[in-house]
Amino acid sequence: MYDVAIIGGGASGICAAIHAAENLKNGKVVILEKNQRTGKKLLTTGNGRCNLTNMDISLNHFHTQNPGFVKNIFENFGFDDTKNFFSESGIIYYNEGNKVFPNSLQAASVVDMLRFRATEANVEEICNFNCVSVEYKNCFLIKSKDGKLISSKTLIFACGGKAAPQSGTDGSSYDILKVFGHRMTHIFPSLVQLVGDSKKTVPLKGVKVNGNISVFVDDVNMKTDSGEVLFTEYGVSGPPVFQISRIVSEAVVLKKKCYITLDLLPSYSENEVYSLLKSRNKNLTLDVFTNGLFNKAVGRELIKTVTDYKLNLKANVLKDEELKKLSKTVKEWKFDIHGTKGWESAQVTAGGIKLDNFNCNSMESKLCEGLFACGEVLDVDGDCGGFNLQWAWSSGAVAGKSAAQKIKGM
Ligand SMILES: Cc1cc2nc3c(=O)[nH]c(=O)nc-3n(C[C@H](O)[C@H](O)[C@H](O)COP(=O)(O)OP(=O)(O)OC[C@H]3O[C@@H](n4cnc5c(N)ncnc54)[C@H](O)[C@@H]3O)c2cc1C
Repeated sequence: MYDVAIIGGGASGICAAIHAAENLKNGKVVILEKNQRTGKKLLTTGNGRCNLTNMDISLNHFHTQNPGFVKNIFENFGFDDTKNFFSESGIIYYNEGNKVFPNSLQAASVVDMLRFRATEANVEEICNFNCVSVEYKNCFLIKSKDGKLISSKTLIFACGGKAAPQSGTDGSSYDILKVFGHRMTHIFPSLVQLVGDSKKTVPLKGVKVNGNISVFVDDVNMKTDSGEVLFTEYGVSGPPVFQISRIVSEAVVLKKKCYITLDLLPSYSENEVYSLLKSRNKNLTLDVFTNGLFNKAVGRELIKTVTDYKLNLKANVLKDEELKKLSKTVKEWKFDIHGTKGWESAQVTAGGIKLDNFNCNSMESKLCEGLFACGEVLDVDGDCGGFNLQWAWSSGAVAGKSAAQKIKGM
């Protein structure tokens, strides 16, 4: 019989295991992981560099039906606690703006150091354990797909969400928690590429532009972000696209009309763009008229968006109203969006198991004593920038410490 069993050996599960074991000292703590090894998804985070957290973990970077709950958990285990936890594990921070990485810039080193710390604390690991059901009969009875049975006095559920199923999270584990009466919000992919207007984006495939991107739902501007946007054969990708993708994903579920606009020259007003274009050499052919302002392929598509002229004509064919239209397009280049790429491309699950039935100081279920949950399985998701891992560390640490506390009180 284990004291604490953790289902799921991802970021939140490993963190919970370490906190449970270190608080219990001589307790029996086990991680049950579906994959051959723990920490598979962590290895892929931050493009292999692992964006561990963010210097600014204010609540506006997190999405949930219950922000007060998240606030409480961060008060229990916040940025400084996370920093201490990693420095005690031998990891020092490297900052890029507010984004925080391990100084090694290697996600693998984060996994190694966490696994080492877990081993030192006597955390057992049972891999290739695909949990299919949990029952409570005086203790938790945890069953694997191939018939193994593990019993434990307390249980921490850290199975992640539905995003990136290739790393072990296919969403099938929500049902295990639902058996105890827990309810779920709608879930949808977030931090993911946008799909749409491929007729416009195919000729630009592989081109990157810097600018502002705004997302409109039913003609209302919902959010603007800035940075590098990548055109692809299916639509658009890149960091600012990921930041607005949650809004698109939700709008698609609600069957709302969605489009994005790109501002290719954010530091110029529309009038200034017009003056810039008007003063350019009109002996240039349309093909190269905006060369030096934009990528050549982008310049061509802009001209094709506002006129039907052949591109080998000289720019002096452009009438004043066409120059005005071109200026407007530079500031508000519109692309219709039909949706997002699917779960296999998404970095995170928006929505999840509702927080209302958990205690916001301990992560313990109000519906089943001794059952705790943490991480992405719950209805909390963050923006791109280290916020999702911060939630995993904070909720994992609180769940681990609370489970140890429970065992001590038994
Ligand atoms: C490509 C990519 C890059 C990312 N980069 C960043 C980043 O740089 N910064 C950031 O903050 N966030 C990033 N994220 C998001 C972040 O990785 C997750 O939010 C975080 O890992 C969630 O932690 P978790 O412990 O809840 O779940 P996970 O880390 O997903 O772990 C869940 C674990 O549970 C296991 N499991 C699932 N079901 C079962 C079962 N039935 N039985 C046994 N085991 C099971 C899974 O195999 C998995 O190992 C990224 C995500 C992806 C996909």
